[in-house]
Amino acid sequence: MSVAARCPGEVRGVRRAPASIGVLALQGAFREHRLALERVGAHATEVRRPAHLEGLDGLIIPGGESTTIGKLLQAYGLDEAIQGFAASGGALWGTCAGAIAVASVIEGQPQQPRLGLLEVRVARNGYGRQVASFEADVRVEGWDAPFRAVFIRAPRITGVGAGVRVLAVYDDQPVAVGDEATLATVFHPELTGDDRWHQAFVERCLGTRAARRANASAETRTA
Ligand code: GLN
Repeated sequence: MSVAARCPGEVRGVRRAPASIGVLALQGAFREHRLALERVGAHATEVRRPAHLEGLDGLIIPGGESTTIGKLLQAYGLDEAIQGFAASGGALWGTCAGAIAVASVIEGQPQQPRLGLLEVRVARNGYGRQVASFEADVRVEGWDAPFRAVFIRAPRITGVGAGVRVLAVYDDQPVAVGDEATLATVFHPELTGDDRWHQAFVERCLGTRAARRANASAETRTA
């Protein structure tokens, strides 16, 4: 196990400030995400207003009901605020309904409010209503042991854009995908007690924070 994986705040003996990660807390499974983030050493906060995004390295959009989450995002002006946060280099992670919220295309629901931050097509409740919820081991790129994933009326990823990588597969279909800035998992990683996805997101957030700071100081030098 690498030093970074053992101790997220420390790389090569140099202490880094913990990642500051917000969890959208309008509706759905946000408490479990906050607890998982705290277990892996991140500073976790709940986001209910645009001002709560200030100073964050990353944001998790949890599972729940994607139409409700989308409407509440609009009602609080959080849709544009989150798009701005992403444009400024903030890391995003949508789980289940959150994966629907970040997607660019929702099959058969062109009017459903969404952020459109990740070039993927999703089908809501895409694993059928009969066996709506189930657990399965999924293979994750670069991990030795599979991840026991909990699917709850999960969306199915039916298409991925050219710049989007498939990170985990179940039943020959992508169940976790991401580009440089945005991650989407159709299962609920916060419900298993296995914190490897949260650990990986913390590492992403620390990486994007370093990139944002480098950009900011380059801009100051050229100003
Ligand atoms: N089926 C829900 C939706 O389409 C998502 C379910 C979940 O987040 N667990 O919004």
